[in-house]
Amino acid sequence: MTIMEVKNLSKVYGKDEMAVKALDDVSFTVNKGEFICIIGPSGSGKSTLLHLLGGVDRPTSGNVSIDGTDIYQLDETQLAIFRRRQIGLIYQFYNLIPILTVEENITLPMLLDEQRVDKHQFRKISEALGLDQRLNHLPNQLSGGQQQRVSIGRALVSNPAIMLADEPTGNLDSKNSEEIMELLKMFNKTFKQTLIVITHDERIALQADRVISIEDGKIAKDEVIRS
Ligand code: ADP
Ligand code: ADP
Repeated sequence: MTIMEVKNLSKVYGKDEMAVKALDDVSFTVNKGEFICIIGPSGSGKSTLLHLLGGVDRPTSGNVSIDGTDIYQLDETQLAIFRRRQIGLIYQFYNLIPILTVEENITLPMLLDEQRVDKHQFRKISEALGLDQRLNHLPNQLSGGQQQRVSIGRALVSNPAIMLADEPTGNLDSKNSEEIMELLKMFNKTFKQTLIVITHDERIALQADRVISIEDGKIAKDEVIRS
């Protein structure tokens, strides 16, 4: 079953002689439950692509449909709501809110939409992430690996259709990197959470079901490793 359809996606930053074509007519489809790694040289357009898949930025042309919704047909308010419910975003530097506790950071996307937090779901997630003893801590009281687990919790709490991660292990040592990837893969396999990860780490790319290589804003290679 197709969960995401990307059609003729292009992104140009800037204007006239300053224009940079970051993404050039990219199309592909993603099956529900797939684990895809996006690789490619620095500056090739990987982050731009991930942002467009997640509705964080708007494309110059083309579209992205997620679970049947053409996300760029939505207005800003609708897109923000769609994003909080259907897209889990994970960044290299966690992007946690420093004055909120672990529990508040994780449940924030739900509170913003005045959705009731399912206590059972929340407890399951925080236990799976090993954060149940840290719920009242602030982010700066946690190690890097723990902070990344909080950001995974925040991404998972609304049970999104898709998890998008931009170098989620880029700031972690190898032991923490492995733990974070094991967690992401566990949610991918157990809950069929579709997972798309940008990585420079070949060991991570080798764990994916499929690897998409981006070069100069285009798909240079799209390989299914396991199905
Ligand atoms: P990658 O993630 O593969 O390193 P990016 O998607 O970040 O690549 O960048 C692709 C190209 O777009 C690069 O040439 C980069 O300099 C440019 N770019 C990215 N973001 C912006 C921006 N906000 N304004 C202008 N140019 C940008
Ligand atoms: P890890 O091996 O997961 O990176 P660390 O060795 O960085 O963990 O931290 C060990 C423990 O110390 C963790 O449980 C963490 O909660 C706690 N800790 C780490 N940094 C801080 C800090 N700045 N303030 C308070 N506690 C911290």
